[in-house]
Amino acid sequence: MVPGVRLVVLGKQGAGKGTQCVRLSHHYVVPHISTGDMLRAARKSGSELGIKVQEVMDRGELVSDDLVMEMVAERLAEPDARARGFILDGCPRTVHQAEVLAALLNPGHLDLAVNLHVPTGLVLKRLASRRVCVDCGATYSVTSPPKVNWTCDVCGGEVVQRADDTEEAIRRRLELYERQTAPLIDWYERRGQLAHVNGVGSPDAVFRRIVRAVEDRRQRGRVR
Ligand SMILES: [Zn+2]
Repeated sequence: MVPGVRLVVLGKQGAGKGTQCVRLSHHYVVPHISTGDMLRAARKSGSELGIKVQEVMDRGELVSDDLVMEMVAERLAEPDARARGFILDGCPRTVHQAEVLAALLNPGHLDLAVNLHVPTGLVLKRLASRRVCVDCGATYSVTSPPKVNWTCDVCGGEVVQRADDTEEAIRRRLELYERQTAPLIDWYERRGQLAHVNGVGSPDAVFRRIVRAVEDRRQRGRVR
């Protein structure tokens, strides 16, 4: 079996991050830890944390760094993540979160942060054709729709085009993402933990590039 991995995957919305994270999690046999999925699950569960999350979102605010990191810390403490590692998706978003994560993992114990890069023009095209399941967040597109029209293959939920997937709204979100994550990318780069991976091409080709980046890092002896 391939050794596990401790990987952070960064990339703007529409860069194909979700798809790659699922494949990486199967390849390395580690959990795919997605903060988006965890927030959705928490809201549905009605747990104490879920109610907190719901209240923040109802006020139209972003869930705080601390709340997100609380969730991530809990998940990373579970046996599967402790034993083999994880693919972390959607976190860290800020340098503060990255610092908290580094402290959680003990220094040096993140193998690699992958920055999946796709030009804005291409992302705009992808996002405009995107369709999303309202229940589980599975994504589809005009060219790869669910098997049954507007019905999620995964959970049977309703598949929709998000109202905020207009070109102008997408452009605003992408600009915000760039502003927020530029310092984060610098932070990982300075620590020698960053790999830039070209996200243009078929999902297979992009997947092979990410695996190669991880293997390169292992060979240079920086990975456990
Ligand atoms: Zn679904």
